[in-house]
Amino acid sequence: MRWSRRLPSDPSSVTVIKDAAGRYFASFVVEVAERPLPRIEVETGIDLGLGHFAVLADGRKIDSPRFLRRAEKKLKRLQKLSSRKEKGSANRAKARMKVARQHAKVADARREFHHQASMRIVRENQAIYVEDLAVKGLARTRLAKSVHDAGWSAFVGVLEYKAKLHGRTFARIDRFHPSSKLCSACGNLAQVMPLNVREWVCACGVMHDRDVNAAINILAAGRRQVAAGRKPEPEMGGKRRPQTPVEADKTPHPARKRRARPTKQEATEMPHDTMRHRRNPRDSSRGARQRRSMIMPAPTVPFVASSTRMNPPVSRLRE
Ligand SMILES: [Zn+2]
Repeated sequence: MRWSRRLPSDPSSVTVIKDAAGRYFASFVVEVAERPLPRIEVETGIDLGLGHFAVLADGRKIDSPRFLRRAEKKLKRLQKLSSRKEKGSANRAKARMKVARQHAKVADARREFHHQASMRIVRENQAIYVEDLAVKGLARTRLAKSVHDAGWSAFVGVLEYKAKLHGRTFARIDRFHPSSKLCSACGNLAQVMPLNVREWVCACGVMHDRDVNAAINILAAGRRQVAAGRKPEPEMGGKRRPQTPVEADKTPHPARKRRARPTKQEATEMPHDTMRHRRNPRDSSRGARQRRSMIMPAPTVPFVASSTRMNPPVSRLRE
């Protein structure tokens, strides 16, 4: 077996995966030591922009790179072509393999972009705050497609472990925080803020770029949250989603209770260590090791070319 790079430590387990494009991957679980970056003063909030991939509190806007957009376009074209081929035909099978390969390329390009963008943000900021969008909650809205396309939650995951690895503060902000409606200059809360409003002027006279204003609010909320001991902040600025009597009464089924996510009330009362932001670097539990295994960039180290014929049988991989 030929190694493309050395592992940082002896792996505790190896998983072999074959993807839809016929490529084999070996995924290793390894321990990785934290590598804190020198402390800096800058902190940032990040808003999931509607027109951009992400918008930072300092006004910077991050778009997905051209290589990713091009790969995505090509994927769409191939998908269309494939669906036009007769079902069950050899041409259809060929076209579908092409689609699968392009899918894999898009996934690789997106992962590469997530690593680059998140590394830059982590390097340039001591603390990073993002809005907890609970992407699933958006699945029913028109936003859904753009959210999924942008791979936002995957990106936030990469951002979180990189921040942790390099000794940065990372926190998700309550998703009912009215980041778009709140004026970051005077704290005034706008009544409505339709999605098509890109810029607005507050009664205080300050003109806002919608996404940058939101990012600034996320930064401020993140600082407050961290100052308060990382508890989700209580009442803040605007309205929270009112709790309906039904929700208030709802107690989880005892059997399900252990796995259910903590309610806000519970989360506030939970000791800090059980919150997901904090992970003990010396925790050697299986879960912790698996989480750290994500730290290997491209945890799946490809060791064989993409042609199925060239791949050795799985049994040989253990040699
Ligand atoms: Zn204002």
